Amino acid sequence: MDPSFMKKIEKAKDYAVQPDRIKIKTYQAEFRGDNGNHTITYEGEQWHCDCDYYVGRENCTHVMAMQIMLEGMVSTEAVAS
Ligand SMILES: [Zn+2]
Repeated sequence: MDPSFMKKIEKAKDYAVQPDRIKIKTYQAEFRGDNGNHTITYEGEQWHCDCDYYVGRENCTHVMAMQIMLEGMVSTEAVAS
């Protein structure tokens, strides 16, 4: 393999353990919860989940779980409120 490409792979592995270098701008995921699947979106530092609990509370276990998983790369405001 091309030695310069091998260096790129090593650099990528180095970056991959530095989440503070990443700021997620938009994100959408399907979350397989215990009671069904939910769509979670993140845009403009605002989270949204389509589960019943989220309505009126603007927070739920699905959003909190995503914030924990993506810590350092997304806003965690919903957890603090
Ligand atoms: Zn939810």
